[in-house]
Amino acid sequence: MVESKTPVKLLKKEDNDMQVIQMVLHTKNYELSLNKNKCTGCGLCVEVCPKEAIQVTRTPKKANEKAQKPTVSFDENKCHYCGICQAICPFGALTLKINDKNASPVTDKDSFPQLLREIVIAQTKLDAKCLKIKDACPLDLIEVKKAGGKVVVEVDKDSCPGCRVCEAKFPDGAIHVNKVICGSLRIFNEKCPKGCHDCVDVCPIPEVLIVSKDGKVQVNETHCVYCGACKVACPEQDALELERLTIRHTEVKSGTWIKALEKVASTAAVTKELRKKTGKKLKESVINRMPPEVLEYEY
Ligand code: SF4
Ligand code: SF4
Ligand code: SF4
Repeated sequence: MVESKTPVKLLKKEDNDMQVIQMVLHTKNYELSLNKNKCTGCGLCVEVCPKEAIQVTRTPKKANEKAQKPTVSFDENKCHYCGICQAICPFGALTLKINDKNASPVTDKDSFPQLLREIVIAQTKLDAKCLKIKDACPLDLIEVKKAGGKVVVEVDKDSCPGCRVCEAKFPDGAIHVNKVICGSLRIFNEKCPKGCHDCVDVCPIPEVLIVSKDGKVQVNETHCVYCGACKVACPEQDALELERLTIRHTEVKSGTWIKALEKVASTAAVTKELRKKTGKKLKESVINRMPPEVLEYEY
């Protein structure tokens, strides 16, 4: 018997806007692409990748220039095209395709959740003034159109981390947004290198980090999405403390999510998730042991 060896081609290409890696097999073509314009360099994908196939590095800063967002790089030799990175990215910067079709192997198999993005738009509360509000989104995710005399607002939901800036700028109650990640962020200015405002330069949401008159960085968490780009860009790791306390996500049964959560969120968040899981398991096992006549009642 002749052992057949499938030739595997591993490819990588990059330009100013995109970075693409590919694994080409005999019958399957896997492709993972990074939209550099959407990526903030937050590093969440790096932390959850089970194959350590992603790196994020601080971008070198030129003298007297602002800090640039951190740079993300994929290793085409390590990636297994599981799609975990795509599922965790709060900014929707990653797209996985299998044979040219959008794919998400881990969420399809229920071994990783999807982020829950909640944006509710009350179209009836919108009027002509809203046409100007397109610029309200710092990530440029809002499309405002006039159709049949009505104003219609559309948001690119898959890329929205829920900063809630639009909610604050739209007329009362016209748009409601929930943050995907909640947490806490503290800056210890006494530990910051003199004159450094790198975190302020890279933060994708305006006015979350502000340099006050005395040169200190102030945090306004109202619109912070706890992505962590500031933490990656900070040259003094002890100067910035970021804790992710909750990540809104769809229900999931697998332990892969707990492992990921241990890397990116606080101990309290992991404990809460474990309790939820144990509670559900306990309930399931009690229900499984119940006689059928008892099960006729709803629980
Ligand atoms: S998770 Fe963060 S670093 Fe990774 S692709 Fe998305 S925005 Fe970029
Ligand atoms: S697809 Fe999976 S293995 Fe590849 S970079 Fe993303 S998380 Fe890592
Ligand atoms: S301040 Fe908040 S929104 Fe800005 S980079 Fe840091 S974690 Fe992200």
